[in-house]
Amino acid sequence: MTYTCPMHPEIVEPARAACPKCGMALEPTTVTAEAEPDPELRYMIRRLAGSALLGAPAVVLAMGAHIPGVPADFLPSPWVSAWVQLLLATPVTLWGGWPFFARGWASLGSGNLNMFTLIAIGTGTAYVYSAAAVLAPSAFPAGFARADGTVPIYFEAAVMIVILVLLGQILELRAREKTGNALRSLLDLVPERTIRIAEDGGEEEISLDAVRVGDRLRVRAGDRVPVDGAVLDGRGSVDESMVTGEPTPVEKALGAEVIGGTVNRAGGFVVRAERVGMETMLARIVQMVGEAQRSRAPVQRLADRVAGLFVPAVVAVAAVAFVVWAMVGPAPAFTHGLLAAVSVLIVACPCALGLATPMSVMVGTGRGAHLGILIRDAGALERLGCIDTLVVDKTGTLTEGRPEIVDIASSGALSADEIVRLAASLERQSTHPLAGAVLAAAEARGAAPEPVADLETRIGMGVAGRVGARQVVLGNISMLAEAGLAPSAFEARAETLRRGGATVVFLAVDGEVCGMIAATDPIREGAAAALESLRRDEVDILMLTGDAPATAEAVAARLGIDRVEAGVSPERKGAIVGRLRDEGRTVAMAGDGVNDAPALARADVGIALASGSDVAAETAGVILVKGDLAAITRARQLSRATLRNIRQNLFFAFGYNALGVPVAAGVLYPFFGILLDPIVAAAAMSLSSVSVIANALRLSRTPLPSAAGSG
Ligand code: ADP
Ligand code: MG
Repeated sequence: MTYTCPMHPEIVEPARAACPKCGMALEPTTVTAEAEPDPELRYMIRRLAGSALLGAPAVVLAMGAHIPGVPADFLPSPWVSAWVQLLLATPVTLWGGWPFFARGWASLGSGNLNMFTLIAIGTGTAYVYSAAAVLAPSAFPAGFARADGTVPIYFEAAVMIVILVLLGQILELRAREKTGNALRSLLDLVPERTIRIAEDGGEEEISLDAVRVGDRLRVRAGDRVPVDGAVLDGRGSVDESMVTGEPTPVEKALGAEVIGGTVNRAGGFVVRAERVGMETMLARIVQMVGEAQRSRAPVQRLADRVAGLFVPAVVAVAAVAFVVWAMVGPAPAFTHGLLAAVSVLIVACPCALGLATPMSVMVGTGRGAHLGILIRDAGALERLGCIDTLVVDKTGTLTEGRPEIVDIASSGALSADEIVRLAASLERQSTHPLAGAVLAAAEARGAAPEPVADLETRIGMGVAGRVGARQVVLGNISMLAEAGLAPSAFEARAETLRRGGATVVFLAVDGEVCGMIAATDPIREGAAAALESLRRDEVDILMLTGDAPATAEAVAARLGIDRVEAGVSPERKGAIVGRLRDEGRTVAMAGDGVNDAPALARADVGIALASGSDVAAETAGVILVKGDLAAITRARQLSRATLRNIRQNLFFAFGYNALGVPVAAGVLYPFFGILLDPIVAAAAMSLSSVSVIANALRLSRTPLPSAAGSG
């Protein structure tokens, strides 16, 4: 277990501690199902209780004659009152405020000035000054004393600041726990126990940790699916909404993949465990999103830059306020100056500023995880809302990526079975969607694939290798062209098939094109509606595919896409995205395959379909768990809502400081007689971080209308 800071993700410590940069309590880097009780929280609560107990009488004494209805002779003499206050305020300040002094001191040592620097200087000044006034009043210059010669004391300021900052810390720690709830609740989806069916057919209930790959597990109606696996027997109607965001239950029968954590609403089945523990989809989602929550959104740079200058600037303002008050303020001038300086230091604490962005990102990405939108990096979340161009891949993205062979043609040299057998031999190692179709066709024909030597996979083109003594090439026109071949005999038939939306590949044996295989891949359900809603949102859509122009045009026509580039290599896909960006467009790229990786990496936002290759998922900033393009619209709404939330937070955080500092410095005093009491300053400061977190939590409830016209 490691710990990190919400404001400084680069900090990773082996134990719970305070962030060396900002002093904020670190939190666990990884999300676990049960929120472990935060020792920091208990520590702060203990100090708050002690400080309140001792601090309350000190504050009452300090108010003294100002409390209405208290007869003057009931109060102790000023001398006694001052000493009692000293005795009470000392443990409150030194013990209750200890965490702040320790962090403030550390910040001076490391040069990372932060809110604790200000709090430590502020409370320290109020306390040391008051203590000196009790212990050695005669040592003070005239400017500090009242008309009657006594030096006023401000223990109650030090005491109240400590109490309010402790209270603020507690509220903040509590609220911070909640920001991880969305993600934590995903882990809670997994049941603790499950039923395993033994070899002999006997059934026993076991804990989930005991499940191994290959185990047969029973899932009854109403049960949660324990791990990822495939249905071996029976059938069920599984609600996958918690992982995919898709509300309609999915029918599962023999061979269907099920995801751990989803709910079997009706029926019952036996599942073979395929991924367990940290390997399950849910565990990987939580891990991935957890990391994204720690990544920094670009907007945060502004907050960081401001925060960096802020502390020294505040100390400077406090110093100026002190000097001006001491020179031209009303008597006792020095005392007023000191109070103004303390108020400035306390009200300006910049912690709300640092929290503004990370808190919203945390809640926004957690919300996305529940909608089937996995955000892998905060920057992608921020940019998604403002994209103006969406580049989409065809195969596997607009189409299902589950093609079926619709035609096999032969030049006569080989039988159709032989063509399929050779093609299947080459495709055995391939992850391309076409490979699945070819292998299925071979199996249906009982044509067993043969071993291949010197296998060469050309991404976006095809495959080649030696089968027995024959050199075989399978792929599109570019693949043939590289071997100096042309499929002239098949061209007419191929073009007809392409116009119907089929993908056509050719098979060449020993330098002669002798076969053609055509496959059609159904268009994804909801793809047309999803593109339509993006178009309404003023997003330009461009389709890029490595497939032939006629096929591309046919698919594009069905989806209402008018901009298409066909026959593009993976590198060119990347180059086109780069060119669009150079033209000043903000580009999202949606793709599923290895061939899309360069484009995904170069886009402002890469969007990978979870059904696609791992390489695509690795290079993308956003992953759509269910291969549903409608999620892009929803993700954009989430992006906008998050950004709006961040702006509100920055406004809250800046508002407090920008308004508070001049008031505390006494700018309003000459005109309205308004001065900010240090106690009010402490309350305002604590409130500002709490209000920022409360606003961020609101994001978890913001309505996100689902994309119109799709499920
Ligand atoms: P898309 O850009 O539509 O996802 P790809 O770039 O993956 O398509 O592939 C482009 C073309 O290259 C395919 O239409 C197919 O003709 C050919 N091709 C790529 N990989 C293979 C393969 N493994 N077997 C046969 N043909 C392939
Ligand atoms: Mg593809």
